[in-house]
Amino acid sequence: MIDVSALGVRHGLTRSLEHLALEDAALSKLMKIRFYPFVLSEADGVHLHDADGNVYLDFAAAGSVMNVGYRNPAVAAAAERAMAGAWSTTSAIFAHHTQTELATRLATFVPGGVKVWFGTSGSEAMDLISRYFRIASGRPRLISFAGAFHGQTGGAGAISGMPSFDDLPSGWVTKVPYPYPYRCAHGPCELAGCSLACLEPLEQALVREHGDVAGIVLEPIQSDGGDIVPPANVLPAIRRLADEHGVWLAVDEVKVGLARTGRMFAYEHGGIVPDAVGVGKALGGGFPISAVIGRREILDARVGTCAITLGGAPVPCAAALATLAEIERLDLIERAATMGSHLQDGLAQIARHSPIVGDVRSVGLLAGVELVEDKSSRRPAGRHAARVVYRCFELGLVLIYTGAAGNVLELTPPLTIDASEIDAALAILEQALADVAAGRFDDARLIGYAGW
Ligand SMILES: *Cc1c(COP(=O)(O)O)cnc(C)c1O
Repeated sequence: MIDVSALGVRHGLTRSLEHLALEDAALSKLMKIRFYPFVLSEADGVHLHDADGNVYLDFAAAGSVMNVGYRNPAVAAAAERAMAGAWSTTSAIFAHHTQTELATRLATFVPGGVKVWFGTSGSEAMDLISRYFRIASGRPRLISFAGAFHGQTGGAGAISGMPSFDDLPSGWVTKVPYPYPYRCAHGPCELAGCSLACLEPLEQALVREHGDVAGIVLEPIQSDGGDIVPPANVLPAIRRLADEHGVWLAVDEVKVGLARTGRMFAYEHGGIVPDAVGVGKALGGGFPISAVIGRREILDARVGTCAITLGGAPVPCAAALATLAEIERLDLIERAATMGSHLQDGLAQIARHSPIVGDVRSVGLLAGVELVEDKSSRRPAGRHAARVVYRCFELGLVLIYTGAAGNVLELTPPLTIDASEIDAALAILEQALADVAAGRFDDARLIGYAGW
């Protein structure tokens, strides 16, 4: 059993605050979303250490990147072996064995005789989809979802449904509402048997723009949009609509893929086969690599017109192969499912007692805890989320919040986590929620840490 009293800010934050002053002077604000004064110094498995000697439990996994845990020995060994060989090559021009091996392996995960493209980031993968769906089909438009997050670059940002991308030209994108059970406008929504009234705008768009639409881009779970889990019949219904209207369906698995939800990919819960899958984040076990796994007619539409210099370079490819092997060796798909239900049970219990937890939803080891001002009004309580994650940090639990209103706690621990570590995290979360609900939190601490 983990000793919760050894976690958290026990040794002050002197060095961390000194570092943050240096960071503030040197680092662009564009690349900073800060929730609390945490400066990562070392990490191991599910434990994080800061420069002041404080220890934390990791429920962010660097944004669902460290699925196989920090400092995974197999990933480290594979990367070192690759560095001793062909450290790097511009894989855009020369072939190398590790890349071919990884492409062959990734192609086995998606039925239908697919091929693989490599980039260095999830944004590039989704950008590729936003471009080549249109190029390969000869149709100019895409449909995506309000609240979606597909990345930061031109095409990926344009198909995202967040206000921070309002500078990007997106006249070629139609945004439709994403199914949101807790806030469904069509009456009580049963997760198992939804009426699917929420998909009417999607169907109307497909009819209205018939002949112009290349495809639909979908997050099987809308993660940055608030860790929203759609009802079980939504994915099959969207696949059916895509087929009926003769358009492709792409799924963004950058955050939810690679065993996180108790399946290799989250779309598998819907029993569907997509035409293209975007993968990133966890793929390289911490090294920068992303991929699109998709139909040949999309990924072979042109020759050499989207070749990222270091996309699928030897070291990240070796790390990715080791990550996939670790997922198998450690049985992380099954583990995410069983540990996920342990987490869900604990969260459901907390939700029953906390006046500010409106909804808890999870699939495997991805959970969203939606905070509200009170359970009857369901008014989003973004300020509470900022307070709770800060208080969790002080008590030794690192996590972040998501959602258009910034009111959803996101829990994505490394998949190597065990039950006692989950229990320790739940104890901290419960304490933080109680402190915030009772007004025992001084907001002065939040200055400069407003998150998004
Ligand atoms: C993080 C993320 C991306 C973008 O990946 P980057 O590696 O940050 O470019 C795209 N889609 C989803 C769902 C993500 O969570």
